Amino acid sequence: MVPVAVKRLLHCMGGALFPAKCVGCGRLFHHNAGTPESINACIKAHATGFAHAMAPHFCPNCRGQWTPVKSPLCFRCGLVFKSREGEDHLCGRCLDRPGAFTRARAAGIYADALQTAIHALKFKGKVGLAGPLGRLLYDTFQQYWLPNEIDMVAPIPLHRRRFRQRGFNQAYLLVKRWTLPSETVIDRDLLVRTRATAPQTGLDRRQRRININNAFLANRPGQSAGKRVLLVDDVLTTGATADACASALIRDGAKRVDVLTLARAL
Ligand SMILES: [Zn+2]
Ligand SMILES: [Zn+2]
Repeated sequence: MVPVAVKRLLHCMGGALFPAKCVGCGRLFHHNAGTPESINACIKAHATGFAHAMAPHFCPNCRGQWTPVKSPLCFRCGLVFKSREGEDHLCGRCLDRPGAFTRARAAGIYADALQTAIHALKFKGKVGLAGPLGRLLYDTFQQYWLPNEIDMVAPIPLHRRRFRQRGFNQAYLLVKRWTLPSETVIDRDLLVRTRATAPQTGLDRRQRRININNAFLANRPGQSAGKRVLLVDDVLTTGATADACASALIRDGAKRVDVLTLARAL
């Protein structure tokens, strides 16, 4: 087997010779200039940051267009406040109806290059994006959680019909290469989606909650009992799906459920 470091080196050298097609605008570009410095930067890029991580997939212009989530935000649901002044606080919705999960966080705003990358992964089958997007998600995980704060990482499941259509669960692809303490498990089957819910797009907050209510069940009852679970998904919109999953886990005895997504819709 070819070691990962050698694969990266070959990939980064190839980036200087062969142009790539930008996932965002479709233009051809070279993701590095072929100098030792740019090849070195490309190898390092595999370790950190959105713009760097996306270098092989997005042209320099497109990969600059993304907005990381920054305070002030709701310290429960992670909603990014329009006002860029002040400190984190609870949003109105969380004050009214706290819901089942304790805390949700995301890497960036669901727009521009991040949205395009998620669409390409989910709907165009560009699974090569799962690596860099997974690293971005992992960086965000490390930003907000200590590794020993989480016992189980669980991707939000697709209904088996959608899974068959797509062939993969994008949320699982994002976490499957994570390096975690040996006692932390990545459990792709912790929850099962019992109902094929109508797509949430176009529904308001209340309709989304009704649509998704009771759509999830613990796959093996008691599996999450006493555990601190991190649910992961690509996008958090109203939080209705994450909340339905968290409810199922809390009913199963989970001690605490947090949520991490790549993107947060405004
Ligand atoms: Zn582009
Ligand atoms: Zn909130």
